Amino acid sequence: MKFSDKILFSTIIIMAIALGASGYFFVNYVFDASLEREVGQALDESSILQFAFETAALNVPSKYDVLQDAVVEEIGAKLEAGGQGGRLLRISGEDMETLYISDGFAEATDFLSQIDRQTRIYQIIRENDRYYVQTGSMIDALDRVLYLETLSDVTGVFEERTQGFHIYRRMTVLVLLCGSVLMWGIAVWLTKPVRLLKKATQKMAEGDYGYRAECISHDEMGQLTEDFNRMAGALEENVAQLEDAVRAREDFIGAFSHELKTPLTSIIGYADLLRSRKLDDETHFLSANYIYTEGKRLEAMSFRLLDIVVMKRSSLERTWTKAGEFFDYLRQMYGTAEEYRLDIQYEPGQVYGEANLLKSVLLNLVDNACKASEPGSLIEIRGKKKTGGYWFAVKDYGVGICEEECKRITEAFYMVDKSRSRSRNGAGLGLALCAQVLSLHHSGLEIESVPGEGSCFSFLIPDGEEEEDA
Ligand code: ADP
Repeated sequence: MKFSDKILFSTIIIMAIALGASGYFFVNYVFDASLEREVGQALDESSILQFAFETAALNVPSKYDVLQDAVVEEIGAKLEAGGQGGRLLRISGEDMETLYISDGFAEATDFLSQIDRQTRIYQIIRENDRYYVQTGSMIDALDRVLYLETLSDVTGVFEERTQGFHIYRRMTVLVLLCGSVLMWGIAVWLTKPVRLLKKATQKMAEGDYGYRAECISHDEMGQLTEDFNRMAGALEENVAQLEDAVRAREDFIGAFSHELKTPLTSIIGYADLLRSRKLDDETHFLSANYIYTEGKRLEAMSFRLLDIVVMKRSSLERTWTKAGEFFDYLRQMYGTAEEYRLDIQYEPGQVYGEANLLKSVLLNLVDNACKASEPGSLIEIRGKKKTGGYWFAVKDYGVGICEEECKRITEAFYMVDKSRSRSRNGAGLGLALCAQVLSLHHSGLEIESVPGEGSCFSFLIPDGEEEEDA
């Protein structure tokens, strides 16, 4: 059953019980009050009749020394006639034998036996589908004690009660019908956020992680929707990260097997040539040399990979090193290269890190800058003391890299121009290693590049104190 239907049905049940109970008590209350009033009137009338009888008995001529039954009958008839047709009474003697009775008065019961001198009694009786208040009292008439009973018709009060229940039942049905329609609308409106959330969870279960539930209220349901959307956002981010990681791993495996396959195919082909045929000296040398250089490339690649794996698991032993030491090292490595013009400028300062690893990062960046530039190009190497650390930058005026590729060049085996990189002994692992080293130093590579104009690779090595705080 739907949640809105549950709200609707439970409300209808509560409304039906409430209306039924309140109607029952109200109609009964009105009935009780009316009946009480009728009983009061009947008892008052009984008192009046008792008094009238006693007065009439006193006026009986004194020639009768006792009150004759015939006189009782005469007074009874007069009293009945005084009631304008609606009065019913019975007068009984000492032995409860009937002395006078109106037409239509009920059969004698043991009602009279309950009467005594002080109290007037009454009872409600039903006779031929009509209801009456029967009263009873004692009359002291001369030397006799008689019983007076009256009957008042109260069928109207009972009919009013039946009518009241009837009207109330109809009212209840009408109110329930209107209330149900109204409640249905309210239930549908109240449960709309739940339906929207349900739709969102279904969409997400189908894999649409970008779907968000519409927030249509500012109450607890609205808060729940916002929390759900926040959770969906976090989930989407996590799924995207997982997908990226899986894609990166697949790319890595694909690139790794490709990088292995090409040199291995050449090595196997040349080795086969060497062992299967007698070659002239020059071809023999060229084949052996090819096997050697490709083997060297594989060796370099496996060392780099090893470096990356080890780097991921290692911790650093950082020390303070003078910034000048890094630039002197670069000058030493590239000082003799006439192909490129190295412009090194730096501010004195201290760098907190593992010097050898940072040197290899700088070497990689300068190496890449050289590979990307035409012979004779300028390569600028800068060092600056900045707040929070020491900043290095390597800028070239070479081929540059487009924005899309900038995001991927730190992935292992990623090469922008594969044939160019391979021809220069590259395997797309240099920047991956740099990124690894820098992340161990709580830093990262900043790349600014414009295709055809050149690139600038920079990074900031944070000072020890700040990093320890972090
Ligand atoms: P490789 O060992 O092949 O040089 P890297 O990881 O160092 O691999 O570099 C990845 C790719 O990024 C290279 O193939 C190269 O195309 C591109 N690249 C790196 N540095 C530069 C640069 N300064 N200018 C243009 N392209 C660059």
